[in-house]
Amino acid sequence: MLSLIVPCYNEERGVLPFFEEAKRVFDGSEYEIVFVNDGSNDGTFQELKDLAKLHENTVRVVSFSRNFGKEAALLAGLKHAAGEFLCFIDADLQQLPETAKEMLAILEEAPQLDCVCAVQEKRREGLFSTVMKGAFYKTINALSDVHFESGASDFRVFRRNVANALLDMTEHYRFTKGLFAWVGFETRYIPYRASERQNGKSRFSFWRLLRYAFDGIISFTAAPLRLAVIAGIITALGSLTYLLVVVIQKLFFAIDVPGYATIVTLILFFGGANLFFIGVVGEYLARVFTQTKNRPPYIIKATINTGEQK
Ligand code: UDP
Ligand code: MG
Repeated sequence: MLSLIVPCYNEERGVLPFFEEAKRVFDGSEYEIVFVNDGSNDGTFQELKDLAKLHENTVRVVSFSRNFGKEAALLAGLKHAAGEFLCFIDADLQQLPETAKEMLAILEEAPQLDCVCAVQEKRREGLFSTVMKGAFYKTINALSDVHFESGASDFRVFRRNVANALLDMTEHYRFTKGLFAWVGFETRYIPYRASERQNGKSRFSFWRLLRYAFDGIISFTAAPLRLAVIAGIITALGSLTYLLVVVIQKLFFAIDVPGYATIVTLILFFGGANLFFIGVVGEYLARVFTQTKNRPPYIIKATINTGEQK
């Protein structure tokens, strides 16, 4: 059976078209759709309730108490999906059920494969986004032990063993792309072209994406911390050399160094560098703090057709 896991945040107009399309594509095969309502404040939950009533066997609904973010929604979907094959897919029909079916076929034909991942072929984005994203993949691949495929989306079809591995990762900051890279398994990347969004608009603004990229780097490598050590060693050695130069000049050549500008510049520079690295350490510490509080990544308010009472 295939479980489609669909995170929905304010998708009241997207849910029904998505369901119709998925039904059209997968009718005749065994499948279920796990919709996760990520604290929408429009009519999404009502739409899902109506759907679940009509299609008790295929539609399951998990509804959060507030918006916890797409990553939390994907996790909840995983926990409530029963299929031996699973698929992460958006509710806005930018990722087509048709493509999911092709990805499933690839998996079924190749027993050695565990995961098929759709890679966005041609980005319909501005130059700035493209450059920023390129820089992100360069940075994270240079710093992290695992490989991040450029442009790889969350749109994937994978086997139960991958799902179980993802469920075993109990971290609070869930950078799904990174989790997939970290757990390994045999993955095939296939190109796909994202369609235009059917309804509503994207929730991922530039700042949210930047935050997301930053989270990804912090979650998957401690290299920025090492950077502080390296920068410290370099400046310490540099200043030692300069100290020698100044002392020798003073003692042997009686050259007084007029130092106001130098001192002010150095104080400001190292003040800045110090703050920067304290900030970096703080980012890691904040994650340790969040993780040790051990709060659940989401709170469920209601479930429908999932076989549990809540
Ligand atoms: N989404 C979610 N929670 C959020 C933001 C988005 O569950 O806080 C869902 C959204 O409903 C959609 C998917 O994640 O199904 C992708 O979101 P969107 O289309 O806004 O992002 P984009 O396609 O621009 O990456
Ligand atoms: Mg979208």
